[in-house]
Amino acid sequence: MKYHIIVFGCQMNIADAERVSAVLESMKYTQTANINEADLVAVVMCSVRKSAVDRVFGIVEKFKEIKKKNHGLKTILTGCVIKKDKKIFLNLFDYVIDIKDIKNISKLLGNCGSSRKSGPQTDNYLDITPKHSSKFSATVPIMTGCNNFCSYCVVPYAREREISRSSSKIISEIKNLVKNNYREIWLLGQNVNSYKDGKTSFPALLKIINNIPGNFWIRFTSSHPKDFNSDVIEAMAKCEKITPYLNLPIQSGDNKILELMNRHYTVQEYKNKIKELRKKIPDICLSTDIIVGFPGETKKQFNNTVQLFKDTKYDMAYINKYSPRFGTAAAKLKDDVTWDEKKRREKVLNETLKQTALENNKKYIGKIVEVLIDSKKDGRLFGKTKEYKTIEINNDKYQIGEIIKAKITEALAWSLRGKIIK
Ligand code: SAH
Ligand code: SF4
Repeated sequence: MKYHIIVFGCQMNIADAERVSAVLESMKYTQTANINEADLVAVVMCSVRKSAVDRVFGIVEKFKEIKKKNHGLKTILTGCVIKKDKKIFLNLFDYVIDIKDIKNISKLLGNCGSSRKSGPQTDNYLDITPKHSSKFSATVPIMTGCNNFCSYCVVPYAREREISRSSSKIISEIKNLVKNNYREIWLLGQNVNSYKDGKTSFPALLKIINNIPGNFWIRFTSSHPKDFNSDVIEAMAKCEKITPYLNLPIQSGDNKILELMNRHYTVQEYKNKIKELRKKIPDICLSTDIIVGFPGETKKQFNNTVQLFKDTKYDMAYINKYSPRFGTAAAKLKDDVTWDEKKRREKVLNETLKQTALENNKKYIGKIVEVLIDSKKDGRLFGKTKEYKTIEINNDKYQIGEIIKAKITEALAWSLRGKIIK
C-alpha cells in the first residue's frame, strides 16, 4: 500500500506531516512521490490565509479525476482546519482528522468510519517519533496551539490553546538527532517564548539544549515580541549553538494598527528589544512578518511600517496581504483596502527591504562564515549561513549536510556568494 502526502503552510505543518508519515508507515504504508499510484493521499492543510484554503479545493478537483481510474483511493485531510471548513471538507475527503488525533488513523482506516467516531488522544501527538524529511535539519515542535488571539489570526481556532511538550522528551529527541548527525535543530511553536514545563522556561530549555555535546546549530521560531524578553536575549548571547538569526514578527509599524491587531506592544517597545538584542549580539540577522492592508490601514499608517523597515534594516521579511478569516475579531471589520492597494504596499515594502538586505549583505564581503550545505547543482553548493542567509559556492566537493567555512566574495540582496576556505 502506498501513500502520497501534500503539505501546505509553515514549518509546524511540515513537522505535523512528518508525524502523519510516521503513523502511516507504522501501518506498513510506503511513501510515493507519484499521486497517481497512491492508495491513500494525506493533505496537511493551512488555514492562515484564504489562498491556502483555496489550494485544498484545487486538490479536491484533482482527486475527482484520479478517482475515475483509481476507485479505491482514500483521502485524508488534517493540519490547521477550522470548524466551519471541517463541515465542508467532510463531504470532500474520506476522512477529516484533527491533527491531535492522528494516531487514530489506523482505527479509522480499519473501520472506514468518519472522523466523528474518533476519540481524542490523551497523550500529545507531538511525541510521536516523526519520519524526518531531511537527514541533517530537523524540526522539533516544543509546543502547539496559541493563546494570543491576534485579531486577524485563525491559528487559536484551528490549533486551540497552548500546550507545551515535556522538556525531557524534547531533550531526548534532540540527543537522538544529534547522535544521528543532524546539524540544525529548529525549535517550533506559535510563540516559543511562552514555553513552560514545570520550572523549565524557554530560556532554560535553550540552555539545556545548548549543553548537549555535538556540532549542531539551534534555531527557533516564532517569537511574539510581547514575550521576547531579556532572559531570551541573554540565553541567545550565552549559548554558542544558537544561531545569530531571529524572526521577530512585528506585523505593523503603526501603533493604532497594532492595537487593532491585539498585539500588546508598541513600535517603540519593539524597537527597544531590537536595540538590546543588537547590543548583546552585534552580528544578529533579523527578519519579521508583516500584514499589509489590515482593515482601516491608511496610507499614513502604512508609511509608518515603511519607516520601521528603514530604521530596523531587516535582512528578510515575510510580507502578507491581509485576508479576512472567518471567526476572527478582525473579520468583523470592513476589509476596505483594495487588493491592488495591498499588492502595491507589499511591493513598496519589498523594495525597501531589498535595499537594507543588500546593504547588510555587503558587510559580509571578505568575511568568513559557516555554511550548512543543503543542496548541490551544476557543480555548485547551496546552503544557509549560520545567520540564515542563502549562499552559493562554486565547488561541489562537499556533501549535503556538512558544515563548512566559506569566504564571502559577492553580495546580492537575497543571497551571498562565496568560496571554500581550506
Ligand atoms: N505564530 C506566528 C505566526 C503564525 S501565522 C506569530 O505570531 O508570528 C504566520 C503569519 O501569517 C503571521 O505572522 C502573519 O503575518 C500572517 N497572517 C496571519 N493571519 C493572517 C491573515 N488573516 N491575513 C494575512 N496574513 C496573515
Ligand atoms: Fe496567530 Fe498571534 Fe497566535 Fe501568532 S501569536 S499564531 S499571529 S494568534
